[in-house]
Amino acid sequence: MKKLLLLYTGGTIGMVQDQKGILVPFDFNNITENVPELSRLDYQVVVISFDPILDSSNMNMDSWVEMASIIEKNYYDYDGFVILHGSDTMAYTASALSFMLENLAKPVILTGSQLPIGEIRTDAKENLITALEIAAAKDEHGHAIVNEVCIYFDYKLFRGNRAKKTEANKFEAFSSPNFPILAEAGVHINFNSEVLMPRSEASFVVHKKLKNPISLLKIFPGISPAYVHAVTSAQGVKAIILEGFGAGNTCTDDWFVASLQQAVASGILILEITQCIGGNVEIGRYETSKHLAKMGVVGGLDLTFEAAITKLMFLFGQELSLNEIASQLTQNLRGEITA
Ligand code: ASP
Repeated sequence: MKKLLLLYTGGTIGMVQDQKGILVPFDFNNITENVPELSRLDYQVVVISFDPILDSSNMNMDSWVEMASIIEKNYYDYDGFVILHGSDTMAYTASALSFMLENLAKPVILTGSQLPIGEIRTDAKENLITALEIAAAKDEHGHAIVNEVCIYFDYKLFRGNRAKKTEANKFEAFSSPNFPILAEAGVHINFNSEVLMPRSEASFVVHKKLKNPISLLKIFPGISPAYVHAVTSAQGVKAIILEGFGAGNTCTDDWFVASLQQAVASGILILEITQCIGGNVEIGRYETSKHLAKMGVVGGLDLTFEAAITKLMFLFGQELSLNEIASQLTQNLRGEITA
């Protein structure tokens, strides 16, 4: 019998309304009570709960280390892993875990829901049951079909480090504009074998050191010199994610260029990604990004913000030189970037 580990971290899926009508997390047992279907599955499902369980807005690097450690400890005893997680920061967690878990040869599927599992119109049951089925799915040789960290939500399986929460209310909460979906669940679960990660033959490695000397500069028309200066000169910052317009354009005012130049001169790495939901950064395509090329800003191609920030946390955790970090940022480590 296939054995799956279900890690419950929190999120709407297991929430109830308190007396004031506010959604707060509650004990995981209510989930199993609310999904009698779980006992009809052909798998042994072992449950581990975070203590305390979290609204995913409270996730941080320690939470990711805890998840990675639980998977590391149980890796060889289970066929697959399902992580129940709030949808708000699910794409960050999926991206972080994708970098932390190297040479995965088993599925790690994150899922959650937009409505609590006890509500009549809930999307939780389908998400949970199909996520378990995907985590148990094997090919004709008995190997896992999915060998990567994914998000399953509303009938679609996404590569974790390509996914974004793009909808606050609809059941269709996630999308991955720059990458095809890995599977779609209808009458059958149809896997897109052309884009799924191949099974790694190398040994499984878990990286548990993450560092966060990172800040974000999201530009907008009318941005002030004081604001840009505050971000680019903040203490302890070693990397700035610059969210530019379109294909990586920014304003070209002297004060703006000088602020970025100063940051680079003081040893800060600048990684540029686009504010657009889809497409990629192409520094130098327009006059309004040529100055970035000259000062050595790294173009993040089609990285999502979630993948960019967690990749930086992972690379800084590896104690690499800035040059090495800059070079790895544009390399494809876990399917996160179209290099
Ligand atoms: N606030 C919740 C969370 O992220 C929302 C959800 O689960 O969808 O934990």
